[in-house]
Amino acid sequence: MPHRKNIYFSYKQTTELEQIVQPISSLLQANGFHIVTDTKDAHIIASIGGDNAFLQATRKTGFRDDCLYIGINTDQLGFYTDFTTENAEQMIHAVQNAEVEVRKYPIIEVSIDGEKPFYCLNECSIRSNVIKTFVIDVFIDDIAFETFRGDGMIVSTPTGSTAYNKSVRGAIVDPLLPSMQISEIASLNNNEYRTLGTSFLLSSQRTLTLKVVQDGNDHPIIGVDNEAISIRHAEQLTIKLADKHIKVLKLKNNSFWHRVQRKFL
Ligand code: NAD
Repeated sequence: MPHRKNIYFSYKQTTELEQIVQPISSLLQANGFHIVTDTKDAHIIASIGGDNAFLQATRKTGFRDDCLYIGINTDQLGFYTDFTTENAEQMIHAVQNAEVEVRKYPIIEVSIDGEKPFYCLNECSIRSNVIKTFVIDVFIDDIAFETFRGDGMIVSTPTGSTAYNKSVRGAIVDPLLPSMQISEIASLNNNEYRTLGTSFLLSSQRTLTLKVVQDGNDHPIIGVDNEAISIRHAEQLTIKLADKHIKVLKLKNNSFWHRVQRKFL
């Protein structure tokens, strides 16, 4: 990556992390990289910490599609973190000797009531904030597909399929398949109310619309990755795969399926 030399570090500003970042910065500078403090000057955005830090880094930098993201963990490897702070020298060696590759990860675009969209790398979740069941009319493109009644729904990306989606028994999806998966959270199914009852995948050509039935339970909790959106009232969510991807730097021998195997089997 000879032309990609400007690195921005994204991390929680604690004394402990400052002490971890300092030697890595020095090592990178000694190897011809420049540390930048403004994201707009960055070619590479490096998160320091676990998956949480990586998700925050993509969100805080606006899901840039003209940068490379790299996840550097402070302990063991995570789902988005291919490198650890302990192996910083090997990381630089790998980067300089083309032992890394760039993966494009699909992201989801969510617009609430027609407003400026939010992006998600893991998922968008919508949940009731009260005990009463929550009703959502689900549309695929312009087809009124089903009426959901229960706790909520999760719309996940392929890389997010191993996160919240997996906990509700959604399938794990190869990130080479540009798709979004819709999974239910505790749907009510009886003679009165009926939903599909399984997760389903939509292609990049589809738009999902979730219309919150305004029956007094219309202040749902909407989560984008690890953040809750501070919108108090929502009528309609429009969700599709974004036109852009994020590009992530990863070790060649650490594919998505290696990580799934390592974490779950
Ligand atoms: P967190 O501290 O609550 O940790 C959640 C765990 O999920 C961590 O171990 C993290 O490493 C892991 N994780 C994150 N993204 C992953 C992915 N794509 N595949 C596999 N594991 C992943 O919060 P966090 O670390 O900021 O992660 C936020 C994510 O937590 C959300 O995007 C959501 O997917 C997940 N979550 C899961 C549940 C659940 O399983 N019941 C509930 C809420 C949130």
